[in-house]
Order: sequence, then structure tokens, then C-alpha cells
Amino acid sequence: NPARRTAIVTGSTSGIGLGIAEALAASGCNIVLNSFSDTDSDHALVRDVADRHGVEGAYIQADMSDAAACRALVEQAAQRFGTVDILVNNAGIQHVAPVEEFPIDKWNAIIAINLSSSFHTIAAAIPHMKRAGHGRIVNIASAHGLRASPFKSAYVSAKHGVLGLTKTVALELAEEKITCNAICPGYVLTPLVEAQIPDQMKVHHMDRETVVREVMLARQPSREFVTVEEIGGLVVFLCSDHAAQITGAALPVDGGWTAQ
Ligand code: NAD
Repeated sequence: NPARRTAIVTGSTSGIGLGIAEALAASGCNIVLNSFSDTDSDHALVRDVADRHGVEGAYIQADMSDAAACRALVEQAAQRFGTVDILVNNAGIQHVAPVEEFPIDKWNAIIAINLSSSFHTIAAAIPHMKRAGHGRIVNIASAHGLRASPFKSAYVSAKHGVLGLTKTVALELAEEKITCNAICPGYVLTPLVEAQIPDQMKVHHMDRETVVREVMLARQPSREFVTVEEIGGLVVFLCSDHAAQITGAALPVDGGWTAQ
């Protein structure tokens, strides 16, 4: 179906990115999944998601720490599907250390993957979106785009930077029917987070409910994790016609974290 919209989601073989790709496929978009790996299971994953929703899918390997690879991802997707209608910048990594001990290679990798990759994919996608006369860019920032925590200097810097990039791009494209927004999730229950719960239970001698409530979600007033489905639902809304006048926004999905 040539009328289908095409969506790229970076870093989408797991967690939030996969949830977003699933939601966009369910809304009828062709989807491009991406990560730095290139395995049979990566390709099987996109086939599974696409087949279940009756859309087209492609897996495109690209390391988001590499500027040229970020731009090539967009070009390959445009070649495969004719254009790029939706770009979701989701790839991200974390490292925790005091700022004076923060490893330089970790700082550089976090800035590259969590911030600069979005600059490169956006720059590559804009000509396609302008030609098509419409476009949607969604950047997955974080509550840490709006608030800081100790020992996360690179992550907090990168996510604050994502919000600056989001606002600037929104202004540049305001008359082009292309919107650019950021989503700022609080603590999301991904497989990675789920896997931390048993260890936290042991360390704190607490049951699951108490460790989630008192330790993991200490700053999230709802005391509930955000789900990947909730993030996916917001991305689909931002990509809909009803969201045409929402641009340059930083939308918290954080159970009240940043209301504090
Ligand atoms: P995750 O580790 O499950 O997923 C990260 C994805 O990025 C994976 O698919 C991984 O393969 C990919 N990735 C990592 N390095 C890459 C690289 N160099 N090139 C290409 N892809 C790469 O993590 P997640 O929790 O789903 O996080 C997704 C995004 O959401 C990140 O930007 C993260 O900062 C943000 N976020 C997560 C939470 C949370 O609580 N989980 C909260 C706020 C924001």
C-alpha cells in the first residue's frame, strides 16, 4: 500500500523503541527497526511485528554513535519505502559515575548516541519530509531532560540537549507541516528495568512491591511504572493529524515526577 506512512524508530530491538514500533505498526505505518547489531533475530523481530499488523517492515543496522551511519539509516529507509514520514529518535544508553571520575569514552558515547544521533537523523530526514509536505519527528528524551540526578552528568546533559534541539527544529519547520516534539518518560518498565527488580529486592531485603514503591519509584508520585504501551500511544497521537499544532513541546509521561 503506497499510501502507508513510513516510520523509523532508532534503537528499536527492545524496550521503549520496540513498544513504539509496535504501536506505530498497529496504527498502520510501515516500520523500520534499527540497532547496532545485525542478527537473524533482529530481522525476524521486524518481520514478526510487521506481519502481525499487516504492514511492511525493514530492519536497518546502523550504529547511532556514528554520524555517517545515522544519516545512512534515513537514506536507506527512504530508498526502501520512497520517503520517511515519521522519525522517532529513541536509541539511548546510560552510565552512572561521579562527574570527576566520569570516563571520557562514556561521556562521548552518551553524547553521541543520546544527543548527536538525533541531529544527524533529523538533518537527513528533513529534505524528505519537506518534499512530501508533511512530517513528524518525536525525540525520546527523559524526565532527566527536565530534572537532574547526581552521577548522571552525561545522560542529563544529553537529554537537556535533546529538548533544545527539539525546540530549535520545531521553530525552523513551523511553516512546513513538520512537527518536532520530545517525550520525557519517568521510570518505564522495560525488560532491563524488570531485570533489576530481583537484585534490588536482595540488596534492600524488601519484597517486590516495597522495592518498586520505596526504592525504584521514590521520585515518581504515582508509584507506578510508565509502560511502553503508554509511550507508544503518545507517539501515535503526536503522529496523528490532531497533533498538527503541537510542536516544540516537551511532554512528561512520568506519574507526576516533574510536577515536583
Ligand atoms: P533499552 O536498552 O531497552 O533500549 C535501547 C535501545 O537502543 C536498544 O534497542 C539498543 O539496541 C539501542 N541502542 C543502544 N546503543 C545503540 C547504538 N549505538 N546504535 C543503535 N542503537 C543502539 O532502553 P530503553 O529503556 O527502552 O530506552 C529507550 C530510550 O528511552 C532511551 O533513549 C532512554 O534514555 C529513554 N528513557 C528510558 C527510560 C526508562 O525508564 N527505561 C526513562 C526515560 C527515558
